[in-house]
Amino acid sequence: MSTSERVEIQAMAREFAAAELRPYAAEWDERRDLDATVFGKLAELGFLGMLIPEKHGGLGFDFATYVAVLEELAWGDASVALAVAVHNGPVATLIVRHASAEQQRRWLPKLASGEALGAFAMSEPRSGSDPGGLATRARRAGPDWSISGEKRWITNGGRAGLVVLLAATGDEHAVGAFVVSPTAAGYTVGKREQTLGLRASETVALELHDVAVSADDLIGDEREGLHYAMEALDVGRVGTAAQAVGIGRAAMEHAATYALERRQFGQPIARFGAIQEKLARMAERLAAGRALTLDAAVALGPVTNGAAGSTAPDRDRGRLGLEGRTARAAVAMLAASDAATNAADEAVQVFGGYGYMRHYPVERLLRDAKGTEIYGGTSEIMRHVIARELLRDVGELRGDKEA
Ligand SMILES: Cc1cc2nc3c(=O)[nH]c(=O)nc-3n(C[C@H](O)[C@H](O)[C@H](O)COP(=O)(O)OP(=O)(O)OC[C@H]3O[C@@H](n4cnc5c(N)ncnc54)[C@H](O)[C@@H]3O)c2cc1C
Repeated sequence: MSTSERVEIQAMAREFAAAELRPYAAEWDERRDLDATVFGKLAELGFLGMLIPEKHGGLGFDFATYVAVLEELAWGDASVALAVAVHNGPVATLIVRHASAEQQRRWLPKLASGEALGAFAMSEPRSGSDPGGLATRARRAGPDWSISGEKRWITNGGRAGLVVLLAATGDEHAVGAFVVSPTAAGYTVGKREQTLGLRASETVALELHDVAVSADDLIGDEREGLHYAMEALDVGRVGTAAQAVGIGRAAMEHAATYALERRQFGQPIARFGAIQEKLARMAERLAAGRALTLDAAVALGPVTNGAAGSTAPDRDRGRLGLEGRTARAAVAMLAASDAATNAADEAVQVFGGYGYMRHYPVERLLRDAKGTEIYGGTSEIMRHVIARELLRDVGELRGDKEA
């Protein structure tokens, strides 16, 4: 995609967010639900098929264009951006990259048109940061599978028409990625969670009691699901970084506008160095977050079957550890989510007492921003991933056996 095309698409997303999302964000937060018509509008623009190839009804965007759109949607409403990011990110890309041609023909057009919203079900009551300990099990039932277990905090969980679900298929390292239909017998959606932020996003528990899943609905190799999921989470993390930049940018813009309007000591508070420093720090950190998000988006590589960006360091350039897509995704998510929470926190401060009131938008943005430090992997896990990748690369280069 050319830069001018990307700019045009981003402008379209911004216009949509300004007209269709931002005016309703406070109301949706208050009532803890989105207006369901928003998904129809997103589908009309093609935003539910951003990473799906055109032959399956999608827009076939590259990741750089995708993150540009996500940032704008998050600027308008973080809950909408999260729903869109889960659907396009881990759900659609895992299918594009690892499902068979027949499975892709079955699922991708439905996702692209919005006929089915996608959910990604990995987390469990006892397994969050450590996906190696999944208790949900898929057992062989003749040629097919029967799945039982419990999933937690699943975004789009109740609305979804298609759920990519991870379940242990054998010993602890054997995990399968299945596509499960929410209409299947034994599949129950729990009550909606009461969340701190992203209140309009649907976060639910799922229960599965002997849910019958056809052999045709297993994606790829029955032991490789965790590998596919980790790759999909790289995409999810870059998407979260873009959402964070959008939320942070909204907070920064509110703070700057308010600083020009609010007068104390006979002048706009924007004249005070302390306020200017806050605004400058927000701008600096968000710009860094955006640059790292774009960098990580490019590292994700093409969105085609079987392909994923490289995890290998670029030894020719003599730069270690931070060249692979996994490390770059973690760096982007860590930096952008930190920048967003900080920007929203400082925006509340710039608004003073008004900032603490529900009537003003910055307290909602602070609650929303905090989520970007948790879902898809916490900030602590991002640091762990970055250090692991760095140490492994350096160790491999030194010829260490344990690397
Ligand atoms: C709004 C929202 C939406 C979500 N959507 C989805 C979804 O769609 N699908 C899905 O599968 N999941 C989803 N999740 C779950 C989310 O991915 C997990 O909450 C997250 O990965 C953390 O897992 P946990 O909550 O079990 O925390 P834990 O893993 O129990 O961690 C608790 C604390 O310990 C720290 N910690 C854990 N391990 C380490 C370590 N090795 N080193 C240092 N610190 C560590 C963590 O950073 C954290 O501070 C969502 C969560 C939220 C809040």
